[in-house]
Amino acid sequence: ALSLLLWKRYVPTLLPSTEKRKTEQKGKASLQRLLGYMKPFTGRFAVVFFFVVISSLGEMAIPHYTGKMTDWIMNEDEPEAFNHAITVMTLMTIMSAVCEFVCDLIYNVTMSRIHTSIQGLVFQSVLKQDIGFFDKASTGDIVSRITTDTNTMSETLSEKLSLLMWYFMRVIFLFGSMMLLSVKLSIFTALGLPVIWIIPEFSGKFYQKLSVKVQESLAKANDVAMETFSSMKTVRSFANEDGETERYRKCLDDTYALNKVEAAAYAASTWTNSMSSLALKVSILYYGGRLVTGSDVSSGDLVSFVLYELQFSSAVEVLMSYWPQVKKAVGASEKIFEYVERKPDTPPDGSYAPQALKGHVHFKNMTFAYPKRPDTNVLKDVSLELKPGQISALVGPSGSGKTTIVSLLERFYQPQKGEILLDEKPLLCYKDEYLHEKISVVSQEPVLFARSVRENIKYGKENATDEEMYAAAKLANADEFISNLPKGYDTDAGEKGGQVSGGQKQRIAIARALIRQPQILVLDDATSSLDTESEHKVYSTLRKDLKNCTVLLITHRLSGVENADHIVFLKDGKVAEQGNHEQLLARNEFYAEFVKQQNTSISRNTEDS
Ligand code: ADP
Ligand code: MG
Repeated sequence: ALSLLLWKRYVPTLLPSTEKRKTEQKGKASLQRLLGYMKPFTGRFAVVFFFVVISSLGEMAIPHYTGKMTDWIMNEDEPEAFNHAITVMTLMTIMSAVCEFVCDLIYNVTMSRIHTSIQGLVFQSVLKQDIGFFDKASTGDIVSRITTDTNTMSETLSEKLSLLMWYFMRVIFLFGSMMLLSVKLSIFTALGLPVIWIIPEFSGKFYQKLSVKVQESLAKANDVAMETFSSMKTVRSFANEDGETERYRKCLDDTYALNKVEAAAYAASTWTNSMSSLALKVSILYYGGRLVTGSDVSSGDLVSFVLYELQFSSAVEVLMSYWPQVKKAVGASEKIFEYVERKPDTPPDGSYAPQALKGHVHFKNMTFAYPKRPDTNVLKDVSLELKPGQISALVGPSGSGKTTIVSLLERFYQPQKGEILLDEKPLLCYKDEYLHEKISVVSQEPVLFARSVRENIKYGKENATDEEMYAAAKLANADEFISNLPKGYDTDAGEKGGQVSGGQKQRIAIARALIRQPQILVLDDATSSLDTESEHKVYSTLRKDLKNCTVLLITHRLSGVENADHIVFLKDGKVAEQGNHEQLLARNEFYAEFVKQQNTSISRNTEDS
């Protein structure tokens, strides 16, 4: 009755709850996925397994022959069998060691192959994600999944899993040998097993949860570090090094606090393992001794048995202590596969790619909110047309949604209502690659790669020739200053373009956009850092050389807007007014106000100077 009571009282708490079961299923699923990636290497794993079996068998030699020898010594017979036994024992042990070496080698090479291929897969899959994904995910988290998590996973898989397999085989062979010696004693040992099984299972669960938290806090620290390094100049100019260090330290403190608990949990689980196996050993010796005095087993058999059991329990202990780490790897692999298998939230790619594109763009009644802030409509029923051979200008206060319109044209996001037509066909029909080839956007803060100016400009067009590059640079009014750089076109543009000035960076970016000879060119405040003269030169070449292009200018300067054939004034995500310069001036509203402000600031500037 008492045991029934105990059963009812404790067993339900031991059974996993539904939530726990769910995460277990998730763990199982990611283990299955992992095994899926290992499938192509089945042949190699079979070879590894073969060597594992042989080497484990070889390990049986020492306990087996030690027991035999004990009996021979006690019975004082068969001296020549003695030498024979030593030879066999030595040979088997050497064979076992050689097999272990071969198995380790093949296994680790295979695993590092799998590791790099999974890393490649994560990278590839991340690059295919929708832009909304990048708005939400932090760079630090993405990078830590590619580096830390794949390392955790593959380290465990390459070191621990091969050992796991190896110890597992050993456990089976050792227990088989023990059964052959004494069934009673083996069953006695087996009954003791659950004790050294259950306790680590529970501490392991706790440890796994902790390790996920540690990974997360590491990713956060990564984020802080990367953000700081990439904005080093801002940090320095605000003399905020100490503040940033403090911020990073705080992250590290959090990680450290978690690490302490993790270390304690790990130590506790190892300790419980060794305590329970110690208890088991003492009991076996006691019971085995009684069996020998009752002459159920010979002294030699008991010696063999104890030696087997020593190996057996240490193998079980190792298996148990590796288990949490395998779980850690499974936890890491879950995070990796979440990215590998994430389907980008983008509509399917179209297939339309006509030979000739006129470049007529029609935004129709677009309403749009960013995925990150779905409740705020950034654009409200916006309609406008961009005509081929015309320069259209988009003006309006900052935050009114100008850049957002460009992002929609680039198909980074989808409008919730309305649509965009390109040459009268929905933008969604077009092939993605084709679209980005035909539409060139120079953004507000163009990003240059840490490569030479040459490579940066040629980034705009695959296999571009030097002639095409020079032509594009001339159009962007950049050829002259590039030639005057220390190494000309081979000058390093520096990390994020730090080695060239803002205006130079913009001109390189314009050249990069022009080299692909786009049908539609968007300059999103792309000349903001240029002096008036350079800006004027850029615009006049646009007028001359891109006669059939559709050009969209987003600018804050009157000098740019005056170049436009058609002007759209955007305010709070709505088209407030549109028309040409004279028409809008005549309306005497938003645009007229904008022009007035510009004129007063210009005249103030001239007065100042
Ligand atoms: P503009 O280019 O006219 O200065 P934007 O189109 O960049 O304005 O931004 C319009 C509004 O959308 C702003 O209020 C801005 O805060 C918001 N916004 C811009 N980018 C994002 C984004 N990636 N996620 C969420 N909101 C954004
Ligand atoms: Mg903008």
